[in-house]
Amino acid sequence: MLTIRKRLGMADMERLLDKAAKLIRRARAVVALTGAGISVESGIPAFRGTQGLWEKYDPMEYAHIDALRAHPEKVWRMLRELQQIVEGARPNPAHLSLARMEQLGFLRAIITQNIDHLHQDAGSRYVIEFHGSGHKLACLSCGERIPRHLVDLSSIPPRCFCGGILKPDVVFFGEPIPWRALIQAQEESKNCDVMLVVGTSAVVAPACDMPYLAKDRGARIIEVNTEETPLTRTITDIFLQGSAGTILPKLVAILETMV
Ligand SMILES: [Zn+2]
Repeated sequence: MLTIRKRLGMADMERLLDKAAKLIRRARAVVALTGAGISVESGIPAFRGTQGLWEKYDPMEYAHIDALRAHPEKVWRMLRELQQIVEGARPNPAHLSLARMEQLGFLRAIITQNIDHLHQDAGSRYVIEFHGSGHKLACLSCGERIPRHLVDLSSIPPRCFCGGILKPDVVFFGEPIPWRALIQAQEESKNCDVMLVVGTSAVVAPACDMPYLAKDRGARIIEVNTEETPLTRTITDIFLQGSAGTILPKLVAILETMV
């Protein structure tokens, strides 16, 4: 016998969007947790999945800090390609919607796992970058941080004034999360009463802990993802299934009427 998966009808989706907007409207503090899924529509390849860059380069071989130390030139060839993709990317309607929510007073903070700076480019002001920022390079020897645009990438690996090798100021495999971002993210998660989880499968620690921290303190979880995640049937209160670039503008359109 064939099992036909029940799909949400248009009316059901509208009802869920309305419910989500009302939760956000009533909340004291709403925090968004975003992941690769929100930037896919801007052309940035996700680690997981099979598109583009990560078909060519195995993340474990290229995105581990030991690989960069051992083979800086080889790893920088990949990093330069990634930098070019990120620098050419523009915010999509999902990033713009979150920026608009902040402007309207409906969003307190964004915790992002992305390093692409697209939330800030869209106009969001309070962004906690869990995995660092591709907009800066950091020296492996002295720790100096240098804005990306001041560094010439025509010869790789690029070097610091001290002679040390530079790396993008992002968290590689084998490196800890920046402690300041981690503490900020934990605080925001504990203090919010609605968490909006967007475009993340919520399986990578410690980012995946944030929705549980929020839920433990009584927050409601609204999830926007194309597919179900481990959160969906455990702690999610409202699951808005679809791409972030489609769902979030609809949510903001409702919120605009509630200002
Ligand atoms: Zn240095």
